[in-house]
Amino acid sequence: MLIVMEKNATPQQIDAVSKMVEKRGYEARPIPGGDRVSICVLRNKGAVDTASFIGMAGVKDLIPVTRPYKLVSRESQSEDTVIQVGDVAIGNGHQTLIAGPCAIEGEAQALTIAAKVKAAGAHMFRGGAFKPRTSPYSFQGLGVEGLKILAKVRNDIGLPVVTEVMDLDTFDVVEEYADIIQIGTRNMQNFSLLRRAGRSHRPVMLKRGMAATIDEWLMAAEYIMEGGNTQVILCERGVRTFVHHSRNTLDLSAVPYVQKESHLPIIIDPSHAAGRRDQVIPLARASAAVGAHGLMVEVHHQPDQALSDGAQSLFPDQFEKLCQQVRHISDLF
Ligand code: PEP
Ligand code: MN
Repeated sequence: MLIVMEKNATPQQIDAVSKMVEKRGYEARPIPGGDRVSICVLRNKGAVDTASFIGMAGVKDLIPVTRPYKLVSRESQSEDTVIQVGDVAIGNGHQTLIAGPCAIEGEAQALTIAAKVKAAGAHMFRGGAFKPRTSPYSFQGLGVEGLKILAKVRNDIGLPVVTEVMDLDTFDVVEEYADIIQIGTRNMQNFSLLRRAGRSHRPVMLKRGMAATIDEWLMAAEYIMEGGNTQVILCERGVRTFVHHSRNTLDLSAVPYVQKESHLPIIIDPSHAAGRRDQVIPLARASAAVGAHGLMVEVHHQPDQALSDGAQSLFPDQFEKLCQQVRHISDLF
């Protein structure tokens, strides 16, 4: 249930309602909104008895939350969440472009690509330092050295950085260097990792599991929010289907569905959806047209020499074209 407070409710009234929620054996989670506070009631099994709250000072309305995800749901927060990373905003009304190589391979590679994507219009830089690879014989990323290169990119080029965390052991160090922590498709339901992300002060980009339903994905986001971290960005990256013409199948309808169900920003990664360069720009255009809040795209200056995902990496001039086209499309809204 959501307890909507009056616009002029005092902190004492909000506190009294929260205490009453806790007295009933539930957890109270105040959600500050644009012009009023709402208190989300968590950990109730079944309907909450409204009688104790109806007459309390400062209470305006009691709204049942019908979805299994509470904090993530639009029922508990009607306004879109906008996440601010330095000067860059992600969410309602913004089209945020994140670009960079699949993996950080060295300082020169990262700085070269970062300068090019920035010039083309990227707002943030991406690059994996810890890479989840299907084969243990494939390049696994540079680890902490890769994170230090990302810090240099942020410093020298002036782009905030997104990088993936793979496990609990390396969470602290990734958190130290990343502006946004990415949780990849393979870890979407790694609940201990989600709980740790819930205690982080960094925004978390949660990619959709490769065979996850949207309910499962939103419940994974709920783990992070339940831990206290309200800064969650969802990233649709395609799901596995029977097709061979693309690496995954980009689920464009996830965008309007998620936007109806949740207040969290949702961006699209057309690179991992496509798995091949020739489909990335068309899918990026479609992503902007369907109303995604941004894109994350793999770009490499020498894709034929990339240590991972070269086949789906755009050349920098292609990324520039993508930015121009996407800008035209988002201007239509
Ligand atoms: C990535 O972004 O480099 C990545 C590994 O993505 P995903 O988890 O979507 O496969
Ligand atoms: Mn990749």
